[in-house]
Amino acid sequence: MKLSQLGEFGLIELLAKEIGKPSKKVVVGIGDDTAVIQFPACPERIRGVPSLPRENSRGSQFPVKYQLITTDTLIENIHFKLKTTSFVNLGYKALAINISDIAAMGGIPTYALVTIGANRNFSVKKIEDLYKGIRKLAKKHKIQIIGGDTVSSPKELVISITLLGEVEKEYLLTRSGAKVGDAILVTGEFGGPAAEKFRMTNAECFALKCFSTKCRIKEAKIISRFGSANSMIDSSDGLVRSVLEVAKASKVGARIWLDSVSIAKKANLEQALYGGEEYELVFTVPRKKAVELKKLVEKKTKTKVSIVGEIVAKKYGIKLVDLHGKASLLKKKGYEHFK
Ligand code: ADP
Ligand code: MG
Repeated sequence: MKLSQLGEFGLIELLAKEIGKPSKKVVVGIGDDTAVIQFPACPERIRGVPSLPRENSRGSQFPVKYQLITTDTLIENIHFKLKTTSFVNLGYKALAINISDIAAMGGIPTYALVTIGANRNFSVKKIEDLYKGIRKLAKKHKIQIIGGDTVSSPKELVISITLLGEVEKEYLLTRSGAKVGDAILVTGEFGGPAAEKFRMTNAECFALKCFSTKCRIKEAKIISRFGSANSMIDSSDGLVRSVLEVAKASKVGARIWLDSVSIAKKANLEQALYGGEEYELVFTVPRKKAVELKKLVEKKTKTKVSIVGEIVAKKYGIKLVDLHGKASLLKKKGYEHFK
């Protein structure tokens, strides 16, 4: 069978099955925005403190934290074109898409490993520019670059970043916590990147030049600390795909209210639903708390938050609902590699 028949998500599912269930130390394995593992106890690292607090110790000096780990890759001619890409922006984006995954778990980023695969004739200056972009964003979030790998590539340029982060146990948000009766909320607007790409097919400018990736760390922190949010994901492959992933992981159904979707300027509804690369947060919270959380995030960050749907029982599936309450099935599922 060819990859094109299975698709990116089918392949991940197949591999996950073959890999099997992780050990107890793995809090969240394959299937979320980041992996989550327990920090190994290492008492000698904290001077004057005999041992790290146990998971359920009350009144502990230190909150119990989890380690977050994620990795994301950008490939020439899939994610960017060499001719029209600003390498500072490309480096910035390569790190930003990883930060977005850490944010989606309610965490903060800490350390990064950067891997470069480039042709032997590739410009050193461009790699330095790439790193300028990475370092600019790393500095902003106090992320330290602690290593990586450098290899030659027969043709296309490859940039892969592995990012570590941490989150206090009680603030961890995953894709699998959505509950029937939750409202679905999103930060920002959707369809912008898809609209940019569409407009730019004949223009000299490629998408990466024209929009900068968001890092919704601040918003995510407020959402996870609010205490009532049940699930969160970042929208790399489109709003519909994000809701689909949350619904699948949480074993629920969902309704997306078409008239409530926040559509970016110059984008259309189709692009807002299926476009992707917005790196906005998609999260769920009990309906009663939705307006309060929306207002809190908006007030503290000036980032727009919209209530775009609701979580329903699994048997109702995932539907798009128009202003008159008429439900329709999904046309497609969002961006997928190999398809
Ligand atoms: P995101 O878009 O948030 O970066 P992905 O859709 O890339 O997430 O990945 C979904 C899940 O599948 C993640 O938990 C990721 O770690 C896992 N995954 C992706 N590719 C592989 C692979 N080749 N082997 C094992 N797990 C993978
Ligand atoms: Mg993600």
